[in-house]
Amino acid sequence: MYHIISSNINNINNKSNKPNDNKNDKTKFNSKILVIVLIGIIFHAVFTLSIFDIYFRSPLVHGMTPHPINLPAPAKRLVLFVADGLRADKFFEIDENTGKSRSPFLRNIIENKGTWGISHTRVPTETRPGHVALIAGFYEDVSAVTKGWKANPVEFDHLFNETTYSFGYGSPDVLPMFSEGVPHMQSESYPEEAEDFASDASKLDTWVFDKVQQLLLNASTNDQELNRKLRSDKVSIFLHLLGLDTNGHAYRPNSKEYFDNIALVDRGIEKIVKLIEDFYGNDGKTAFVFTADHGMSNRGSHGDGERANTETPLVVWGSGVRGPLSSDLQMERIASLRGKAKEMLPVNVETPTNWKLSSLFRSDVSQADIAPLMTSLLGVPSPLNSVGVLPTEILSEDTPQYTTAALRANTLQIWEMYKIKSSSKQQSTLIFFSPFTKLSDADRMFERIEQHISLSQWEDAQILCHQMIDLCLMGLNYFQTYDRPFLMTVITMGYFGWIITLSLYVLNNYTSIGIENCNQQKLSTQMKRFKTLSNYLIFIESIALVGFLLATDAPLLYYLYCVFLVLFWAKTIPSNIVPLYIFICDSFSQVSSTRGHFINTNNSANLSIIKNFIILSVSAISVMELLVVSYFHRGVLSLLYQILGVVSVFFFYNRSGAGKTSTLLKSLWLISCLLMSIFPSLPIDYGSDTKLVCFGGILISILGVLTSLFKFRNNSKQQQQSSSSSQQKLQKSKKNQIINSILIISILLSSFIVYTTDSSLEKKIGLPFINQLLSWILLVSGVLILAIYRGKGFYDHWTFLCLSLSIPFLLLSISYEVLFFGNLILNLTLWMYFELKVDNDHTIPKLVSITPNSEPSTSLSFSKSASKSNLMNITQHDIRRAIFYIFFCYVGFFGVGNIASISSFEISSTYRFTTIFRPFLMGALLLVKIFIPLLLVAISFSLLNNNLNVPRPGSFLIVIALTDIMSINFFFLVKDTGSWLEIGVSISHYAISNAFIILQLLLFAVSALLVPTTLKYINNNSNNNNNTIKSK
Ligand SMILES: [Zn+2]
Repeated sequence: MYHIISSNINNINNKSNKPNDNKNDKTKFNSKILVIVLIGIIFHAVFTLSIFDIYFRSPLVHGMTPHPINLPAPAKRLVLFVADGLRADKFFEIDENTGKSRSPFLRNIIENKGTWGISHTRVPTETRPGHVALIAGFYEDVSAVTKGWKANPVEFDHLFNETTYSFGYGSPDVLPMFSEGVPHMQSESYPEEAEDFASDASKLDTWVFDKVQQLLLNASTNDQELNRKLRSDKVSIFLHLLGLDTNGHAYRPNSKEYFDNIALVDRGIEKIVKLIEDFYGNDGKTAFVFTADHGMSNRGSHGDGERANTETPLVVWGSGVRGPLSSDLQMERIASLRGKAKEMLPVNVETPTNWKLSSLFRSDVSQADIAPLMTSLLGVPSPLNSVGVLPTEILSEDTPQYTTAALRANTLQIWEMYKIKSSSKQQSTLIFFSPFTKLSDADRMFERIEQHISLSQWEDAQILCHQMIDLCLMGLNYFQTYDRPFLMTVITMGYFGWIITLSLYVLNNYTSIGIENCNQQKLSTQMKRFKTLSNYLIFIESIALVGFLLATDAPLLYYLYCVFLVLFWAKTIPSNIVPLYIFICDSFSQVSSTRGHFINTNNSANLSIIKNFIILSVSAISVMELLVVSYFHRGVLSLLYQILGVVSVFFFYNRSGAGKTSTLLKSLWLISCLLMSIFPSLPIDYGSDTKLVCFGGILISILGVLTSLFKFRNNSKQQQQSSSSSQQKLQKSKKNQIINSILIISILLSSFIVYTTDSSLEKKIGLPFINQLLSWILLVSGVLILAIYRGKGFYDHWTFLCLSLSIPFLLLSISYEVLFFGNLILNLTLWMYFELKVDNDHTIPKLVSITPNSEPSTSLSFSKSASKSNLMNITQHDIRRAIFYIFFCYVGFFGVGNIASISSFEISSTYRFTTIFRPFLMGALLLVKIFIPLLLVAISFSLLNNNLNVPRPGSFLIVIALTDIMSINFFFLVKDTGSWLEIGVSISHYAISNAFIILQLLLFAVSALLVPTTLKYINNNSNNNNNTIKSK
């Protein structure tokens, strides 16, 4: 950034000597701009990473000691059944057809033996986090997002780790998660190929039941060692039953397959329970838990927070568990036990009547509560990182002393976790540590708990324990998000600093408010003052931030965020703000000093510039905000297109020369805009429709032919008028004519290829070789001709580019997207026409130069002393065009697909090139398809900028500054809760908006190659309006 500042000053010095050099400086991407772009890329890369520091940090802490219960446990062993993907209502409800329960054995237990309820899971409702919550008692942190969720991202403690011996059977996706590194756990999984959606998945469950049967058989017949293990204390057996999940995905949860699978699981459990009771001689020392990891939506999917996904059944029975109770007074009982208000309890949904269970006491839990429930039944310590709260009302009423002791151990375990988290934060924070105040008298609370226990006041002790747990969990969350406010501020200020720096740079170098038009005397004095200020700022900010970071023992990346903060706010902004500062000072000081006497025209003009600038900024920000919404609702693009059409006809383009043709073109523009607005409202997952592709191809050809005809007419007119040079011109235009004809024929040929290829694919004949060959020849020759040929006039070249880009797009299309592309061409052509018209029309006030002698202008022109074309300045209209450009980019992006997932693009688009599955090639072809509309938009913008003498680097920086307004939005929209999909999408939105700088760099570079800077549109006769298509 130092270059920017130093060269600014050089500019001042050189300015008087070599005015012509300025022009060259401004048209090219010179070293200054390169430095900015480089800083921009690094800045965006670093700030993209920042979300992992802010949103995705592991909540796990280490170094806690386990808290045993110190009383004999009710159960010697625990059997856990997890029916993967079983949703609560399908399990509990009475089958409409048979009038009976689908799971008679478990139903009998609910009614006569044990307790039941709903286990409320958290999002993401997926298999892995579900099992972690059940067995380890914590909700898996989203930091696993960075580790791919596959392997264990972190070491964690869980139920099986605490037992003497554990046995587990089930899916290879689940078992290794818990058995790895646990030597006393014996587990077995079927091969992954068995999880085939096509076959009947309930055989997966049968496999698991058979394995347990085999285990018990082995132990009772020949394996003495196994027998000893199974008969020890604190043993657990885990049965993971994947059938329901697989059947739910394949046939949906309302299917016969799903219902049959529920029945099969029920029969299997009945068998296993009987075998186990027989094996242990009905000793009454076995506890059973039946639940699911997540539910299943009606669409056969899970992951999000839909009720069908988050509500899973829970049935607990056996040793240490209370029997069924009447539902009378249940709310009051649970509320008093947990020391909570009724509405805070998870039981806040009415039990559906078709469950026929309303008369029975229902014990709902949060999923992680099942972990301390199981450990308490078994008498082992809670998993160290568990945030589950023991559901005391599920434990037997006959042993209140044990229940209290278990809850006390649960409280101490969570308290320990809180203490470690708090002290580690305090240790790393030397100054400004703000503790969690609500737990400051924790010692007194624990004293009271012990007091109640010693007096056998079990209920009072339990209430206090519950209160203590609530506070500890709040405290844990407080420290988990401790750094967030600081980091959020740093990142947001970083983005604002970058946007302001870019804006000031454009203002200084490409407008008349900038350096060149300042009073040089004032400028150099103020420069010195601001330089001193900047140095002080750098010093103070660096000391403060580094001090703060050192004191808080911050990670290395935090320093990098702060480097950018200091760079922007202490260096680039103070150094570049001087001319603007002088401009504002001048405007206001003179107005106030002359108030009441006479109005100084110059300063009122200055004020109107400021006013217009504010209006422009506000509207720019509003459009950007609407584009942010378009990421979630593509319909917003439709709305914006309608607004664009109407507003531009009545405002922006209204002043261009009146007349019949102009009205005609304006209506055409309006129609084109309204047609464009249809596309973003259409569904993304459109099927294949070859007829539409061919129709689109023919329309584009007609458009091309019409263009040629217009040109021919104009040329013959010109030929009649002019004399000598026209011969040469005619030759050139003949060459154009030939090229265009070839292109039009190629487009028609492409349509034909698409048609024949698809019909032969439909007949399952395969991809005809000749079609494939022709497709590739057309694609390659299209690229070659783009690289070699340059049209000789403005519209010639534009027509040529449109036609040649249509060919690959057509070959990659499957449905209405060709119509979209054709209309986009028409839309952009008219856009350029109007923008050039507006700019060339000298009756429009925007080009009235504001000189001290002139009339005050109401419109903003930064160009003060000379006509714009000489100085290559940037005006408010250029900023408006940049906004239009970004909008068109988004239309190109989202118009016919959702870029956030490339999978939404039909793979069948590539079938004209290859039918064999080659992911890399197909991906590349799809990227070409996405890139073509964007490139077309970029080319039209580039053509406009060339002809309006807008410096390319300037317009590039404006575009970047504008899109970073969106990046800030997406930064705040990143989600750390929700389904895997929602989290992933929010991250990819943020990454896409940050990658926009690179995409734009690419687009600007390619369009700069395709559009020679010499190519000019010359409007030699502004009254002659019918030359829409005009050649030089
Ligand atoms: Zn699952």
